[in-house]
Amino acid sequence: MSSRIYKNLIGGQWAPARSGKTFRNINPANHNDIVGEFALSAAEDVDDAVRAAEKAYATWRLTPAPKRAEILYRTGEILLKRKEEYARAMTREMGKVLSETRGDVQEAIDTAFYMAGEGRRLFGQTTPSELQSKFAMSVRMPIGVAGMICPWNFPMAIPSWKLFPALVCGNTCVIKPAEDTPLSTIHLVEALIEAGLPPGVVNIVTGFGPEAGAPIIEHPGTRIISFTGSSEVGRIVGQAAAGLFKPCSLEMGGKNAMIVLADANLDLALDGALWGAFGTTGQRCTATSRIIVEHSVAEEFTARLVARANALRVGDGLDESIQMGPQINQQQIETSEKYCKVALEEGAQILCGGKRLTGGAYDKGAFFAPTVVAGVKPGMRIAQEEVFGPVVSILGCSGYEEAIRIANGISYGLSTALYSRNVNYAFQAMRDLEAGITYINAPTIGAEVHLPFGGVKKTGNGHREGGTGALDFYSSWKACYVDFSDKLQRAQIDNAE
Ligand code: ADP
Repeated sequence: MSSRIYKNLIGGQWAPARSGKTFRNINPANHNDIVGEFALSAAEDVDDAVRAAEKAYATWRLTPAPKRAEILYRTGEILLKRKEEYARAMTREMGKVLSETRGDVQEAIDTAFYMAGEGRRLFGQTTPSELQSKFAMSVRMPIGVAGMICPWNFPMAIPSWKLFPALVCGNTCVIKPAEDTPLSTIHLVEALIEAGLPPGVVNIVTGFGPEAGAPIIEHPGTRIISFTGSSEVGRIVGQAAAGLFKPCSLEMGGKNAMIVLADANLDLALDGALWGAFGTTGQRCTATSRIIVEHSVAEEFTARLVARANALRVGDGLDESIQMGPQINQQQIETSEKYCKVALEEGAQILCGGKRLTGGAYDKGAFFAPTVVAGVKPGMRIAQEEVFGPVVSILGCSGYEEAIRIANGISYGLSTALYSRNVNYAFQAMRDLEAGITYINAPTIGAEVHLPFGGVKKTGNGHREGGTGALDFYSSWKACYVDFSDKLQRAQIDNAE
């Protein structure tokens, strides 16, 4: 397949980086396959993009929300038609298997339709005034130019979580996709343009974090910042935004626990563990990375999980028979290798995997074997730090209480799962697990777009994507008072008896 040159989108025009420089996007399953050359952007390109977005904001904010929403609805329809094409392109640039990239495009479609519905809601409140002949209400106002910095693991879904609520609320956008997956963002925005999005309402700058991401935060024209990625970079982004008093939504890492109690349906828990740990090659912020199993079933559970992990077909996700694709790049492989080494040094045992796959087609890509680590103790680094690869740890527990203590004994708080047939434990877990998401008898992955997505502790800074929380981030509440008494009425004074 030939390598195409893709450009930034600035004010409705596809434009190269001002420097003329480009970078390569390669297929993680086959490093000889170049997906494309993309603009290597810098602060000057971000400046062009923000200015275009500021210009477009003047009319977009006055476009009625139901009209803005119609564009989102049409975008959903276009994505539906292109689902297969975009999913294949996404597998080629990101690596996850086709069924999962189809799911990624579907998530953007779901978000489009959900946020299109919001065009006729965006509800505020009316409430009585404390004064006579006075009307009081709260309305959602757009904020201005929203800056967005995205990761590579959900190359279309995550940009859609950011763009669609921002747009329906009346903001304009400058988005930087991850350097490993710029094409899927371009596809998403192509659908928006075909659906009738006016020039400048969404602008794309491609490139690397410090050069093309940081200027989005620092530019005086961006009014809010939305970031999804690692906690390390999130700290940099959050600190930069705080210094400029810009609202900033941070969605970061996880160290997600699945608890398997002795009364669980073990077949179901195994299906969930396999999907949660090795889906997207373990590269989800919600991936199952710790399985806390009650001692009496731990041996059987572990043996069966290892057998199933060993049987997973790993390879190029474009082949429909493949169950797990490559890791995104060499650096992620090195992280998985590093954590396997750390686990061994800490006294844990690697029951399967633990190394990159080599030989034949594996030598062309970045493949790591599905890995199960046993004998893990709660304080070990392998039980505390995010790996972001197909590496899952098994920890033993004596029952519900200890399981919850272990599950909560980390610095992250994104997703959690409990497998048990005891309804009391199910409801206690929903109450007790310190996380933004708890699943009962379902794996830690699988968020739906109309529910809040995000976490507590080091995972986030209190904002939520998905659901109505996204509208709260991308709009600003305004209180409006209309006095129709024709006289000065003073709150807190004239109504006091
Ligand atoms: P991931 O491992 O998911 O790529 P990162 O946190 O490394 O997570 O990157 C997430 C996004 O943040 C990417 O788009 C990346 O280019 C961007 N990024 C990295 N460093 C910075 C930075 N210093 N300032 C702004 N954005 C950055």
